Amino acid sequence: AASEAKRLGRGRIVFYSEVLADIQRRRLALSIALANAHKDGSLKLFFQPIVAAASTEVVALEALLRWTCAEIGPVSPDEFIPLAEESDHIINIGKWVLQQACSAAKTWQDTNDDHIAPKVAVNTSIRQLIQASFADEVQVILKNTGLAADHLVIEVTESVFDEQNMQQALISLLALHEMGVEIHLDDFGTGYSSLSRLHEFPMDAIKIDKSFVMSADEKSLAVVEGALLIAKKFGLKVIAEGVETAQQREKLLALGVDELQGYFFGKPTKLATLSVTETSVPKL
Ligand code: C2E
Ligand code: CA
Ligand code: CA
Ligand code: CA
Repeated sequence: AASEAKRLGRGRIVFYSEVLADIQRRRLALSIALANAHKDGSLKLFFQPIVAAASTEVVALEALLRWTCAEIGPVSPDEFIPLAEESDHIINIGKWVLQQACSAAKTWQDTNDDHIAPKVAVNTSIRQLIQASFADEVQVILKNTGLAADHLVIEVTESVFDEQNMQQALISLLALHEMGVEIHLDDFGTGYSSLSRLHEFPMDAIKIDKSFVMSADEKSLAVVEGALLIAKKFGLKVIAEGVETAQQREKLLALGVDELQGYFFGKPTKLATLSVTETSVPKL
């Protein structure tokens, strides 16, 4: 019996190590494919509307990456973005995203008679922000695409406050802000880093993470109220993402949230099928 248990035990170890090997193989295959993803046409940018809470006017569109890996098929950004960050492929991918997003936003502007067009919001990895050349590269992309700096929003996460990133991230963000680019703090409430340095950063808005919008419990409400208090104190806008229902929208509007984003107003879509100035949601 003892040797039987030992045999089974060893079998289980083999089983687990095979699963781990599969995971490793997948990560490796994805990482290798990511090296060329910005050049081989496998990446696509989708756009999701961000609306003014009361009027439902589209004020911005957030660029969201979609990737179909030739070998493996569609892969979620929650899986491939961390891999791209570990390998630093995010640097090239991020440049591609900025280029595509700015040129799309320029088109919205050009195709609109009165030139009133939504801004474009671009997610930016801390790996990009700590590059000393980052702000200059953004400036070149703005110049080449012809997009005005005040039509670009850079979304950053609380990782900019981490001690090892803070100095260079702050230099990059100050330079961008000086150019007229808006800076939004994404995923508010999910980070572990200290917000005590918030006042040193050139932020224009905080974006409440969808986990707090989607859950109706007291703690989530407290995070939303906390965000609104901080925003008031520092003169920032508050944006809520993950709005899926009319009830959520009404509650957030009543609390004083400025802008809303979520499936209720529109899912991320390809540019071709997008109406950039309207949503089908009635005004309040
Ligand atoms: P994020 O920046 O917090 O983006 C919001 C996510 O919530 C998106 O997921 C969006 O599709 C999803 N979402 C929007 N409205 C709703 C809703 O009403 N309900 C639900 N359940 N979800 C909603 P997605 O597109 O899968 O992106 C996941 C994350 O990947 C993003 O989170 C962002 O952190 C990252 N990401 C996406 N594109 C880029 C990029 O170009 N660069 C970088 N660095 N990160 C990106
Ligand atoms: Ca975002
Ligand atoms: Ca977010
Ligand atoms: Ca997120």
